[in-house]
Amino acid sequence: MTGRMRAAVVTQFRNPLELREVPVPEPGWGEVLVRVRACGVCHTDLHTIHGDWPDKPALPRIPGHEAVGEVVALGPGVELHHIGDRVGVPWLHEACGRCEQCMSGWETLCARQRRTGYDVDGGFADFVVARADFAVQLPAGLSYEQAAPLMCAGLTVYKGLMMTDSAPGDWVVVSGVGGLGHLAVQYARAMGLRVVATDIDDAKLTLAARLGANLTVNVREADPVSYVQRTVGGAHSALVTAVSPAAFGQTVAMMRPGGTVVLNGLPPGDFPINIYDMVMRAITLRGSIVGTRYDLDRALALATQARIEATVHPARLDDVNDVLAKLEGSPLPGRTVLEF
Ligand code: NAD
Ligand code: ZN
Ligand code: ZN
Repeated sequence: MTGRMRAAVVTQFRNPLELREVPVPEPGWGEVLVRVRACGVCHTDLHTIHGDWPDKPALPRIPGHEAVGEVVALGPGVELHHIGDRVGVPWLHEACGRCEQCMSGWETLCARQRRTGYDVDGGFADFVVARADFAVQLPAGLSYEQAAPLMCAGLTVYKGLMMTDSAPGDWVVVSGVGGLGHLAVQYARAMGLRVVATDIDDAKLTLAARLGANLTVNVREADPVSYVQRTVGGAHSALVTAVSPAAFGQTVAMMRPGGTVVLNGLPPGDFPINIYDMVMRAITLRGSIVGTRYDLDRALALATQARIEATVHPARLDDVNDVLAKLEGSPLPGRTVLEF
């Protein structure tokens, strides 16, 4: 496969993406070339474009880590995939496979990992190169539009909810019901949990209620801490996907004693922790980053089993800067997916 392709490129942090013609990349040893059919737009892409995090990507970089499409070329040494296979290209582009983290089932924590759309070019383009071992086969019957948001948002909240160690019947707070959160509500329900959804936007909360949230709180209108403590006696656990540092401390205060708060959201910044409160109420706080290939397999299976459906807004690559502006400003409930 030779020739040129269209891509949206970060050329300078905080600038709009540049729509460019670039060469179609060549798959190297153990790699496949994927013709992108759909790619979800994650808030992480905004953090990437803004250079929000300490380890900034080298520029120019093509973002996008929820790409799905067909394998159109194989590099040498690829046995796992064939031309025409429908695959997904998640955040974890590759991990070393040999370190303690990789060998103990935590490849997402590998120090030698490379990340799609961050350390290597991603899916805001007509084609993307993936490591054959890390591209996943899509279940038959799952559309590209529905598969894309599961590659990061679905996987991340599936894993994050597993990390809450909740049991069926428990109350879980889903703080922030955007792209990640609206899937988290559905995964939580599929796991038998009762859900309190919080956000700052009524349209998001309306969607969360429609998707099965038992209770919703607009944190701009009501104090979610006293509300959750009063109505359910505090939640057993929480998954924080909100892009506001304030939401993190607030969620800790919504826990009942012994509660576990899992952090998914990655807004730059800090939040205060009261030591006495953490100790006396034995609160667990843990970070959670995407999920392994095994987690992705499970997240896809549960999505099929429980009929989990992303609320998708289709868009074109040409409109990517509008999509990103909306994600930051007055976001649409659900996930925007670029379709090719
Ligand atoms: P999104 O913009 O679609 O959703 C974020 C939601 O947070 C929005 O609905 C917004 O209204 C809400 N929000 C803002 N302030 C709030 C507050 N004070 N209280 C409650 N809700 C509030 O973004 P997304 O794509 O769902 O990503 C969310 C965050 O998760 C981002 O920081 C992203 O980088 C991060 N992320 C982390 C992982 C991971 O593996 N840990 C994976 C993907 C995304
Ligand atoms: Zn993401
Ligand atoms: Zn490793």
